[in-house]
Amino acid sequence: MLVAGVKVMDGPNMLRHMHEYTIAVGVVDSLKNFSKSSGRRVKSFRVFVGELSMLNLEVLRGALEKLIKHSDAADAVFSVEVERARVICGSCGYVMSFGEVVEDLDDQEKEVIHFLPELIASYGACRICGSKDLRIESGRGVSIRDVVYV
Ligand SMILES: [Zn+2]
Repeated sequence: MLVAGVKVMDGPNMLRHMHEYTIAVGVVDSLKNFSKSSGRRVKSFRVFVGELSMLNLEVLRGALEKLIKHSDAADAVFSVEVERARVICGSCGYVMSFGEVVEDLDDQEKEVIHFLPELIASYGACRICGSKDLRIESGRGVSIRDVVYV
């Protein structure tokens, strides 16, 4: 299989980790765009992976290492870190960690929310005012931050 002209992985693990590789390709493409628009090489960057994204951090890190070797950011140093999920109450504005909202739920409810975090308002409630107007504010996506150029 070819992804962006670079052979990344063969075999049965490929499909299971396809999502991580797709994300890695997107990260490397973004770095290319950063370089192109600034005319400089990327020296270092940090990748933040949302707690709720269900991506395997080690697989993502490995995919990035492979893809970066073949890009113009080949010697860039990077880290892959977890971005904790935060939930905000639409009624009183209180900000909670995702873990705080789900801690009193039973195991089955926790599992449902693990796979479908959007349902948090159906199961959880604000710790302060009890409102069910909960929104996930962070912890779902993947972002690139602190890009440093040479
Ligand atoms: Zn509240």
